Amino acid sequence: MSKRFSFEFFPPKTPVGREKLQTVRSELATLDPSFFSVTYGAGGSTRDNTKSIVMEAKAAGLAVAPHLSFGGDDEDTVLALLKEYQNAGVDRIVALRGDIPSGMGASRLVYAQELVEFIRKHTGNHFEIEVAAYPEIHPDAPSYVADIQFLKQKLDAGANSAITQYFFNADAYFYFLEDCEKAGIDKPIYPGIMPITNFTNLARFSRNCGADIPRWLTQKLEGYGDDKQSVIEFGTEFVTEMCQILMEGGAPGIHFYTMNQVEPVKSILQELQS
Ligand code: FAD
Repeated sequence: MSKRFSFEFFPPKTPVGREKLQTVRSELATLDPSFFSVTYGAGGSTRDNTKSIVMEAKAAGLAVAPHLSFGGDDEDTVLALLKEYQNAGVDRIVALRGDIPSGMGASRLVYAQELVEFIRKHTGNHFEIEVAAYPEIHPDAPSYVADIQFLKQKLDAGANSAITQYFFNADAYFYFLEDCEKAGIDKPIYPGIMPITNFTNLARFSRNCGADIPRWLTQKLEGYGDDKQSVIEFGTEFVTEMCQILMEGGAPGIHFYTMNQVEPVKSILQELQS
């Protein structure tokens, strides 16, 4: 069976960013991914942007999966969006709880499991549903074991597979797979891979989402200082090797967080496929 590769975008805020994304999308489409996915801003803040990027990709004949969460929305709003996607022929959704955006303290978060149940209740088996998984544990989880149980509940509620938060330690993924299997999870868990291009941004992002950057890697990347080219070269070499280890160790494919860039994802994937 061939391995599945997918590419994630976020909705750009400006018309220039939108235009650039179309070029990036066209170039990445030549690599023949199984699908593109488009993130959904916290609290539905990018709802229309996400939808229009998804619809554009769909109109261009590409397989595309919108990310979706309740955010602060009511059931009618989420259902209307689901129906629009269904009618447009979109057949995959990445179902998430999302986070409360700063300044929106009052909204209630709806667990991804409830969203999966909602999608199945209203659209049957139309959508392939992906959910999120956390080899290094979700920051709000009461424990490692509980987090795996909650992942199992999302999958048992009707999700087809999971995509992980990014990590820089292949062992975390392999132990997690083993523990998921012991917990009775038998659906595919795709590693989510973040390329390394800018250490300062990556470190900030990682603190927020609970992804660990190993000490040695931090030291090495920090050591390059302003030498951005060396960060990219070493980062790409490291991430490519980690992907090779993951694939050889049984990962069913890879989901790339492209950060709306062709490189280094294109080079990494070509190296993996060579
Ligand atoms: P859930 O699965 O609902 O879990 C959230 C937390 O609650 C976990 O700690 C879990 O252990 C706990 N939990 C789950 N069920 C229960 C329960 N029944 N009782 C008590 N505790 C429970 N964020 C965005 O805003 N937009 C995006 O587009 C986006 N895309 C993502 C894509 C991927 C592949 C990943 C890995 C993450 C993405 N995120 C996105 C981030 C995600 O929204 C956050 O990590 C969020 O905090 C959790 O979402 P979830 O769907 O994993 O939540």
